[in-house]
Amino acid sequence: MTGQIHSVDSQGADRRAIDNSAVPILLVDDNAGKRLSVKAILSPLGYRVVEAESGGDALRTLIRENFAVILMDVRMPIMDGFETAGYIRQRVQSELTPIIFITAQDKAEATSLKAYDLGAADFITSPINPAELRAKVSVFANLYLRAEQLSERTRQLQESSDQLMLLTEAAPIGIFRVDADDNYLYTNPSWTEITGVVFADAVGRPLDFVMNPQTRSQNPGESPENTGSDSTWSHRFEVDQPAGMPVRIVQLTAKPLVSEDGARLGRVGTIADVTADTAARAAMVAARDVAEATVVMQNNFAASASHELKTPTASILGFIEEVLDNELLSEDDRRTLDIVYRNAERLSRLIDDLLILGQDEADQAKMRAEPTALVPLVQSLVASFSATASAVDVALAFDPVPDPDVEPPVALADPQRLEQSLTNLISNALKFTPPGGRISIGISCADGGESVQLAVRDTGIGIEPSAIDNIFDRFYRADSVMRTDIKGSGLGLAIAQRMIAAQNGKLCVTSVVGKGSVFTVTLPAAHSV
Ligand code: ADP
Repeated sequence: MTGQIHSVDSQGADRRAIDNSAVPILLVDDNAGKRLSVKAILSPLGYRVVEAESGGDALRTLIRENFAVILMDVRMPIMDGFETAGYIRQRVQSELTPIIFITAQDKAEATSLKAYDLGAADFITSPINPAELRAKVSVFANLYLRAEQLSERTRQLQESSDQLMLLTEAAPIGIFRVDADDNYLYTNPSWTEITGVVFADAVGRPLDFVMNPQTRSQNPGESPENTGSDSTWSHRFEVDQPAGMPVRIVQLTAKPLVSEDGARLGRVGTIADVTADTAARAAMVAARDVAEATVVMQNNFAASASHELKTPTASILGFIEEVLDNELLSEDDRRTLDIVYRNAERLSRLIDDLLILGQDEADQAKMRAEPTALVPLVQSLVASFSATASAVDVALAFDPVPDPDVEPPVALADPQRLEQSLTNLISNALKFTPPGGRISIGISCADGGESVQLAVRDTGIGIEPSAIDNIFDRFYRADSVMRTDIKGSGLGLAIAQRMIAAQNGKLCVTSVVGKGSVFTVTLPAAHSV
């Protein structure tokens, strides 16, 4: 092992820096002078040469480490080169280490045969030809380096594959792999947890064997059978569960695995238990359906109940008017009847409001937006409310007064509905402004002439910040209002907002408690009347 940093470029070519000092060579010779000369010949190559002065010394060194190649003198006292080689070959660690025998020129032929018999890789004659020695040693040194690099690569690959395996085994999601015929090759523990099938029972079986056959292709566009083999699958299915166990819904996603030359290798994929999600979504859909149905039912009920109530209320009002016309009525009876009449009137207004709210969306859609001149509309509203305003000592004005030289603003609106909405806003301003206060209605252009705005300002009691988000809700009345004798159903603003929205407009409010409120209606501008 060299300990060098190892890099592989994009083509996969190995670019490890060659470190020759990492190549160990064992030189076995009893003659110190010869060892010195061999070392001198090899020194330009930079290998690390370890010396042994006898066969026994060589065997001891080989216990401690492995060598790229052994250079061994044949003629040595006590244990000659061949005998030493025999022992070296018996040891597992060194049985494949190449040995180059060094032998005298005149013995070369006889030596070579015996040397090859003992599994020698080569032999060289003495006196040594330096170039030949270097060439022979280099061949084995390079093989050694290559083998070292390969074993390092193998170790690194093993390490990353071990880490990947640890991850997939611990992953909280089911992971699987199938072969080119879609038969299971691998499943992780979470896959087993979700499907209830252990790996040993899954391996070799077809991908869809865990899927309940009825639900397997219930989403035809998404089922494995109907999608191309090269596409990514996304498929939801039910897992067969033991009797009595609740159904499990599983989401499967799988991607094709293709080799470099384009051959199909199979697929890898994941499965997740989405039973809880599916149930939650189904509950949400059901709750939404119920809520929608309730709103429709409420609207229908309000509309039909209001229609039924409208006729008798109108006739009660008519009868009371008739009785009140009778001059013979005592003062006491007249007072009582007046109260009854006012209450019947309030009831009639409430029924009108309910009728408007009960209109279904189709009715709303029928609203016709037409170019509507705003100045005459506001003028007529100010005129019709002026008597009521002065009765409660509140000033009501068109403010700022429109400049006759400026082209009057025109909105795209339904004039009747707009008038109704503004009536609600002005009635509120009158209700919530104490005597001595002031209400003004102003018109202005906005959004660079694309919109027009109508603002109803009052110097009334204002609205608490905590209540301001709720005032457009049906039947909502702010706390400050509840304790007074101010009349109201809590429907006026809900109706105004709905009508303005149906005209593609917006109703907003700003308010300061004790100082007053501004209700602003924004509508699309029409560019000619
Ligand atoms: P109501 O019939 O109670 O007036 P609305 O929907 O018209 O019903 O108004 C809802 C509530 O909004 C009122 O009860 C009141 O609390 C508040 N509100 C509306 N307009 C004003 C205003 N100009 N000044 C102060 N509070 C207001």
